[in-house]
Amino acid sequence: MNKQIVLIPGDGIGPEIIAAAQAVLTKAAAKSGIQFTFETHLAGGAAIDAYDTPLPGKTLAAVRRADAILLGAVGGPQWDQVSPEIRPEKAILGLRKELGLYANLRPVRVPAVTANYSTLKPEIVTGVDVLIVRELNGGIYYGERMEAGMVEGREQAWDTESYSRPEIERILRLACQVARKRRNKVTSVDKANVLASSRLWRKTAGQVAQEYDDVRIDHMYVDNCAMQLVLSPKQFDVVVTSNLFGDILSDEAAVLTGSIGMLPSASLGDGPGLYEPIHGSAPDIAGQGIANPIGTILSAALLMRHSFGAEAAAGQIEAAVERSLADGYRTADLYQPGLTKLSTEEMGRKILENL
Ligand code: ATP
Ligand code: MG
Repeated sequence: MNKQIVLIPGDGIGPEIIAAAQAVLTKAAAKSGIQFTFETHLAGGAAIDAYDTPLPGKTLAAVRRADAILLGAVGGPQWDQVSPEIRPEKAILGLRKELGLYANLRPVRVPAVTANYSTLKPEIVTGVDVLIVRELNGGIYYGERMEAGMVEGREQAWDTESYSRPEIERILRLACQVARKRRNKVTSVDKANVLASSRLWRKTAGQVAQEYDDVRIDHMYVDNCAMQLVLSPKQFDVVVTSNLFGDILSDEAAVLTGSIGMLPSASLGDGPGLYEPIHGSAPDIAGQGIANPIGTILSAALLMRHSFGAEAAAGQIEAAVERSLADGYRTADLYQPGLTKLSTEEMGRKILENL
């Protein structure tokens, strides 16, 4: 099986962390009998410099043909002065829209060896394994809005939240399908006691649940969920929610791990999936070879799992990361006395060795 992977290193630490992840992906693919062909393309600030646009036509054409996309990060202070229509971040929004990526998956795992980095007590976070599934194409981020203006003598502005049954069904089905490969539990999060869109969400979630009798679905209000995530996060397996609630809850859940450099994400639609670490381009440490490549390497694991159904390969990458951490290897962001400090490249090689 020959698969086309588009790499978009982007800006800042992007090229350093993508190089580490590419090596891991190549080895994991070979072990699982998949052959990858890589193509590298520009987006973000690098593309603005070269083509005066954050998302060049050549990159768009390549991602449309691709089987999966691995992205580093885009943006940085060099592009703070460019006009709003061509900001580097527009590249991500453009890719999401172009590829119809309606689901954003953020797994948050806390192995025992890194539990002490969290600001929460180790007994609360050790063994946490939550997957947040956020709806990415609808809701209040795309609803009708009115910018601030004078209405009856007072300045006003508004945004609207709207969800259709098909939008809710497809994200709930995806959540149930991924739960089947995990612990068969889905928590659907809404605010159905107040919002009409949430009442449709809850009703539809309950109906979709009947298609998956091996998956248990609970409903939770978003305010309670926000509290439960830091109070007893181990109760959760898959959490599925709207665009706005998912944005907030996934950042909150990321805090459980104690480091932004560790977390991967997958954005899925009907075409190729897009995989990237949750952090930005970290311009403050770019070019120094000290960035943590683990978020990107774990994104490569998600790529194997969700784009190619290569569950074994994904698990092997995750195990290689955990092994390397358990052996005491850390990049600078997670270094503590008594452990071994590695550069980005050395950490990548260590994980490769353990794969
Ligand atoms: P964006 O707007 O693109 O999300 P940001 O301003 O939120 O960017 P990041 O680029 O994510 O910020 O960086 C936030 C902090 O975390 C910085 O101090 C950065 O150095 C650090 N950081 C981010 N990613 C990593 C990483 N992979 N390894 C080490 N440190 C990182
Ligand atoms: Mg950020």
